Amino acid sequence: MSLTVNNHYDVVIVGAGMVGASLACALTHGSGFEGLKLLLVEASPVLASSPVQQPGFDARSTVLSAGTMAYFSQLGLDQELLSAAAPITEIHVSDQGRIGGVHLDSKQQGVSALGHVIENIKLGQTLNQALLRAANLELCAPVQVTAINPCIEGMQLLLAKVTDNNTITGITQAINFPENKEITASLVVLAEGGRSSLCANRGIEHYSHNYNQSALIANVAFTKPHASCAYERFTPKGPLALLPLEDREGVHRAALVWTHSSADISEIMAMKDEALLQQLQQDFGKKLGTFTRIGKRSMYPLALQLAHEQIRPALVLLGNVAHSLHPVAGQGFNLAMRDTMALAFNIRESLQQNVSPGSFTRLQCYLQAVQQDQQHTISFSDYMTRLFSSTNWLSTWTRTFGMASIDLLPPLKRQLNRQAMGLAQSRISLS
Ligand SMILES: Cc1cc2nc3c(=O)[nH]c(=O)nc-3n(C[C@H](O)[C@H](O)[C@H](O)COP(=O)(O)OP(=O)(O)OC[C@H]3O[C@@H](n4cnc5c(N)ncnc54)[C@H](O)[C@@H]3O)c2cc1C
Repeated sequence: MSLTVNNHYDVVIVGAGMVGASLACALTHGSGFEGLKLLLVEASPVLASSPVQQPGFDARSTVLSAGTMAYFSQLGLDQELLSAAAPITEIHVSDQGRIGGVHLDSKQQGVSALGHVIENIKLGQTLNQALLRAANLELCAPVQVTAINPCIEGMQLLLAKVTDNNTITGITQAINFPENKEITASLVVLAEGGRSSLCANRGIEHYSHNYNQSALIANVAFTKPHASCAYERFTPKGPLALLPLEDREGVHRAALVWTHSSADISEIMAMKDEALLQQLQQDFGKKLGTFTRIGKRSMYPLALQLAHEQIRPALVLLGNVAHSLHPVAGQGFNLAMRDTMALAFNIRESLQQNVSPGSFTRLQCYLQAVQQDQQHTISFSDYMTRLFSSTNWLSTWTRTFGMASIDLLPPLKRQLNRQAMGLAQSRISLS
């Protein structure tokens, strides 16, 4: 790995969160990228053993759909991920206080798992280790991109070393990095997450819908085995999801994603553990026995945020900076992963055709390839959020009727299964 930064790259990825790191893995592990000059810039330190300084690799857990796991298998990372993840073989969707519900089962799909739940820290470890062993990748961290401007070569970037972190030990890729440096790139991939300053810098605006909801995230322990079942329960206060985690020292565990209105969340966050567990027990019921413990809690305000433009000449937006969804249906990263693989495929085609990867015509092909999937997934996720957050009689009736019909109509159920598994869309292959 080089410590001196070149002046021009074919592709520069800004941000090594889940999405930027996955793209870097695709461009270094897939075939057909030989000779690609690739730089990844990350504002936080990128450490193999402890990725917690990167904002995306925090105490959350992520459901990786079967489709996403198939992509990670193409990148040679599935075995490492599987060893750290818990399978989901069943999904139970129910509405508190109402009979019926939807039951999705991997056996009905003829697959071993509908998806896998992985703690973000472990996902970060796997991705960071893959980045640090990649031969044809240059990585600058902790370095921030402070400005991007169109130029004759494509895009000019201003890089600034992040110096206020004195506690970095282990690998620091920017040891010999000057305080500031200007470089150019044929294509810049902005994967800088939901709070993008570079988009604002380029005048790219976002549509934003505030759901007036926040999610409380924590790991919980309980007395009955979860048997690899994920639960999604809709309560009058908001949706509550319990995602199976691996048992630790004989303790049964799940990741809790508990959505509340923004007005109620501070009160819930301030509750003592015992009172919170009691409330959870009351809202969820006894399917997992008694809740015995809750770990560190975090809170995430929830909004739908969509960029008005995803491509410009020499520029593409990827991940949360392009579309940030409510986590109710576990679709945000899985959708971004499909975009990521489509972009990698597009870059490879550009290389094969000897065309700049930042060519606007090529980027239009990328957008065309992903647009329908994005629209469908975003509408599905938004519809689910609004439907299951509402207490008006029409929504309640639609929910009850909808769940009953899904459970009784096998083709409808199969389609929902395929959406949950990330298999409703066509697959890209980099092999
Ligand atoms: C509570 C919750 C639960 C979720 N659960 C699921 C789930 O189960 N399944 C699912 O598919 N999705 C889920 N999601 C969505 C998923 O977390 C996001 O899709 C994903 O985190 C997006 O990652 P990202 O790489 O785009 O952004 P981030 O993770 O925010 O990464 C951005 C990176 O860019 C770096 N950066 C920023 N600016 C600069 C700069 N100027 N220069 C250099 N580096 C920079 C940051 O340091 C950071 O490391 C969930 C989201 C939430 C909030």
